[in-house]
Amino acid sequence: MYMDLVNSYKPDSEITLNNVTHKMALVVPFRHCKDELKVFAPYMRVFLNNQSIPHRIYVINQLDDLRFNRAALINIGFLESDSDCDYIAMHDVDLLPLNPKLNYSFPSAEGPHHVSAPGLHPKYHYQTFIGGILLMRREHYKQVNGMSNEFWGWGGEDDEFAQRILFNGLKVTHPQGISTGILHTFRHIHNDTTRPRDQEQYQKNIGRLPRLSSGIDDIQYTLVSRNVTLINDTPVTFINVHLSCDVERTPWCLQGKSGNVRVP
Ligand code: UDP
Ligand code: MN
Repeated sequence: MYMDLVNSYKPDSEITLNNVTHKMALVVPFRHCKDELKVFAPYMRVFLNNQSIPHRIYVINQLDDLRFNRAALINIGFLESDSDCDYIAMHDVDLLPLNPKLNYSFPSAEGPHHVSAPGLHPKYHYQTFIGGILLMRREHYKQVNGMSNEFWGWGGEDDEFAQRILFNGLKVTHPQGISTGILHTFRHIHNDTTRPRDQEQYQKNIGRLPRLSSGIDDIQYTLVSRNVTLINDTPVTFINVHLSCDVERTPWCLQGKSGNVRVP
């Protein structure tokens, strides 16, 4: 199915737009995953063009030495993406949709659309899982104040985001009529040996966090540069950033020499 899709390339100029045009900001939280991005960007362009989804790909590239912060990068993607995009896809770089029936169109007024649903994602199957790939209207993302900036290192930020959605009375929709199961709906190009997850002190850190606070209203970052680069002929907007951390509040944002968390 993967090669079929790559071979069915449809140029941007052939995309016929509906009368009502929505445009998606494909927001990719990113650090040191060039190999994955080289596969991801051209693949997604073909996949989305085949669905006639107008879109732009944004890679939010974390340049500082702090621990990786997926949620803060997605917040920046929301803030820095062009205003003609009326919805965002929060999208892991290593998760490729294989089934062409996975719908990336403008999500419903009820709430976000979770493309990589628990019954379909190759790795995560718990019922409230909301990570991987989530489509959300701009107004809904704003309504929930985006994601918490306080999750440094792997995990937790998506589960907290699920609580925000619930708290705001939004409903999550899921793909319907997909029969390819957890094995053939996505390709997870993640090598656990070369890309180990930074799970140090994970439980301890999330236990210390205040819930449902922090978000697009308190994010601190510096926009270092912004440029459009072609990756295998696919235009990608790089947003290069330095995140800031309040070490009093979230000391676990620092990493020690060994990669362990250094608590001052
Ligand atoms: N990511 C990254 N660099 C890192 C860690 C994570 O670019 O060092 C991004 C990348 O988009 C990745 C996403 O964050 O797909 C989620 O991280 P990861 O794949 O480790 O999580 P998983 O869902 O596999 O547990
Ligand atoms: Mn992964």
